[in-house]
Amino acid sequence: MNFYRRRKVVGMGEPHAIVVGAGIGGLAAAVALHRRHWRVTVLERAAEPRELGAGLTLMANALRGLDALGVGDAVRRHGTPDSPGGLRTSDGRWLSRIEGAELERALGTAALGIHRTALHRLLRAALPASALVTGAEVVDVDPDLPAVTYRRDGAPATLRADLVVGADGLRSVLRRQLWPDLPAPAYSGSTAWRAAIRWTAPVSMAVTWGPGREFGTVPLGDGGLYWYAAETTPPGGREPDELAAVRARFGGWHEPIPALLAATPPEAVLRTDLFHLATPLPSYVRGRVALVGDAAHAMTPHLGQGAGQAIEDAVVLGAACAGGPADLAGALAGYDRQRRPRSQAVARASARTARFGQQLRHPAAVALRDGLLRLTPSRAALRGMARYADWQPPRG
Ligand SMILES: Cc1cc2nc3c(=O)[nH]c(=O)nc-3n(C[C@H](O)[C@H](O)[C@H](O)COP(=O)(O)OP(=O)(O)OC[C@H]3O[C@@H](n4cnc5c(N)ncnc54)[C@H](O)[C@@H]3O)c2cc1C
Repeated sequence: MNFYRRRKVVGMGEPHAIVVGAGIGGLAAAVALHRRHWRVTVLERAAEPRELGAGLTLMANALRGLDALGVGDAVRRHGTPDSPGGLRTSDGRWLSRIEGAELERALGTAALGIHRTALHRLLRAALPASALVTGAEVVDVDPDLPAVTYRRDGAPATLRADLVVGADGLRSVLRRQLWPDLPAPAYSGSTAWRAAIRWTAPVSMAVTWGPGREFGTVPLGDGGLYWYAAETTPPGGREPDELAAVRARFGGWHEPIPALLAATPPEAVLRTDLFHLATPLPSYVRGRVALVGDAAHAMTPHLGQGAGQAIEDAVVLGAACAGGPADLAGALAGYDRQRRPRSQAVARASARTARFGQQLRHPAAVALRDGLLRLTPSRAALRGMARYADWQPPRG
């Protein structure tokens, strides 16, 4: 029997964790701790719980993590697995193809596309309603007490707990306060557009590469489809009509891209400059604060792994803290040891994928890359995909 279970038997109070941020990382961490008998308070600065950004690809590792959080089956019901996919050129030729069934055979579970709102809702539903406090913006953290100070309705308040989880995303206030010398997130060189639309015809989970650009399609559950597009360009560019900007760049690419853009309402298009934590953190833990998700390792989206890594963080943190607050320093050191090398390797691989894929512009380099990819057997392409998606949650 571990220490925490002993505490329960003798009737002592539940350990308490504050989670800062109710994105996918924060909600997943809250669910993981809640399942390990922690009381959780999630402080979210937005007035309403929400998840912006259309759809999301969940690779096998993310799905295994969601299984460990008890929401995997519900997530699968809201997504579309098994769609065949691969890589194409802008005129529609396939560079490599991967069947969903092959991926499932290799990894035990297929990749899946889901609307972010659906995933967010399912994670929220796995928490007690009272856990989420919206309109609460954290402005200060004390890692030793630990405690956070937040503002709600204009009034400051301080909350103490046994553990603080920083899940406040790319521009994390907690990261900035605890590692003030770390450089701010860097612009990756690319901007992205994305939209979730109604679309029922079959479409592959595929990525198309052209010089300095890419366009991806992800079938979602419930008759939806998520498309994303990216281009190498300076940051800060904005167009009065972003859909027209996407059409101008991708409207001449292979079908179904023009048809998907024709079916997209202009107001559905979201544009985001892609930033990442180019200088990796020396630790994900300071005192009794642990960082998860983009707060810990914001990465480019080119491997579709940012949320997946946040989910892995959550599961590992929950398992590490299963013993309650007794040996929290040891538990958090274990969390850092398990998560930092892997998530930072995935972040580096994601930046490499961007350089080799979407960001490659020189015609000779593009031709060489495409030639190499055509010669690559599908088994090797599958191994490449499986490399980061093949992850198992800790036992117990
Ligand atoms: C274009 C694009 C496509 C992507 N595609 C994929 C994909 O297909 N698959 C995948 O796995 N990942 C993908 N990602 C990455 C993924 O979206 C992120 O890694 C993931 O959403 C990070 O979740 P998070 O909870 O760590 O951070 P966030 O989603 O940023 O959540 C942080 C939360 O904290 C709140 N907050 C911030 N500051 C405070 C504060 N001071 N006080 C209180 N609350 C605060 C915010 O309001 C927010 O709700 C993509 C990213 C982009 C940009």
